Amino acid sequence: MLQTDLYSESMMTKHVCVSKHDPDFSDRRGAAETFRTANLEKNLTSPTHASLDLENLRFGQTFTDHLLTVEHTVGQGWGRPQIRALADGLHVHPAAPVLHYGMCCFEGMKAYLGVDGRGRLFRPDMNMDRLHRSSRRLLLADYEPDELLECLKELLRVERAWLPEREGYSLYIRPFMFSSGHSIGIGRPTSTTIAIMLSPVGPYFQTGLTPIKLFLDERHVRAWPGGVGDCKVGSNYAPTIHPQITAHETHGTPQVLYTMPSSSSSKDDAIVSESGAMNVFFVLDKEDGSGQQLITPPLDGTILPGVTRDSILRLARHWADYEVSEARITIGRLRKAAAEGRLREIFGCGTACIVQPINGLVRADGETLEAPFDASNITSMTARMTRALTDIQYARVPSDWSVPFDDAKIEEKELAGAEPCDDAVMGL
Ligand SMILES: *Cc1c(COP(=O)(O)O)cnc(C)c1O
Repeated sequence: MLQTDLYSESMMTKHVCVSKHDPDFSDRRGAAETFRTANLEKNLTSPTHASLDLENLRFGQTFTDHLLTVEHTVGQGWGRPQIRALADGLHVHPAAPVLHYGMCCFEGMKAYLGVDGRGRLFRPDMNMDRLHRSSRRLLLADYEPDELLECLKELLRVERAWLPEREGYSLYIRPFMFSSGHSIGIGRPTSTTIAIMLSPVGPYFQTGLTPIKLFLDERHVRAWPGGVGDCKVGSNYAPTIHPQITAHETHGTPQVLYTMPSSSSSKDDAIVSESGAMNVFFVLDKEDGSGQQLITPPLDGTILPGVTRDSILRLARHWADYEVSEARITIGRLRKAAAEGRLREIFGCGTACIVQPINGLVRADGETLEAPFDASNITSMTARMTRALTDIQYARVPSDWSVPFDDAKIEEKELAGAEPCDDAVMGL
């Protein structure tokens, strides 16, 4: 079991980064104004999951039959949450601020079918708190995050048959929230819509952990001090697509790793930030030869506080065989480590990919900082972390982080590779 102290420590840290005293997030008109799960209305349509073709799933392109929506209007408050046909779409006025000023935020989570036959979420309270925080930064209508979580669980029970029964597969959950009013004036939102849609997804790569190279972008900046890089707001993502596609066309790298320039003129002093939708970790041999360290950039306001990032830090600190730090990492330090053969592993992490091995960073001038990746090395941090996280997500190892949303013990499910790895058993 994950020890309770480990879990409550996670709750405390969460409140540190979701500060209620930050003036940017203080427009809380009292969460007394919220919708209630008890008022949920269902208008169900005929299910179509029988036609689901797992082999040909492409990420984010197949959706389940129903959508959850709830709407708020200033003066009238929240309406009743509804579960209704996704095919009926959303009705958005052409003047809605979301269409003009990007007044929207979102979340990404997954539901997994556990080896015990129960549908399960992974640390959903963290996603609910993060959505709440993003929405407050945009002055969208306030609500109780716990009520939204209960509505989500109800939607998942309605769509239970869409939960793929196969290792590596899951139901991706996309909650989103936007300003749906009728005015193109730039001002406080007058209407807010919350919606949740579900999409069955497979593993990022069919063949297990396949490394990719990232383009080390020393020109574009994803987020900056005083900005909103720590919120999952739509406006952070639209500008990243052009650099990502250009990097792919020029260097063949599917993703970009952003950096933050320093005030000095040396490129080596720039610091590593994160990827378009993944946090990034490095494993380095320490310079004095006294072991290895796991490093990721700190939550300084420019980094999205990933649930996977937090989980990896907690697991690694718990295992205690690596020095774990959240610290600024300069390009110069990475170049030196790579040149000395001390850059052991790089991996990205996020809900969509869980853990993504990275075997090199390519600079604009073609210089590549190589990090070896050996898929057969099951003792690498990349491999151990992947295993430990998925063991918890599919409930091969019991943990408070895995939250069931149904009781349906349909039948004992034998999922492939159901032997938990030693790390997970020893570590938790
Ligand atoms: C969503 C996201 C992540 C990953 O967060 P998780 O909670 O682990 O899914 C990392 N970086 C950015 C920029 C993101 O948008």
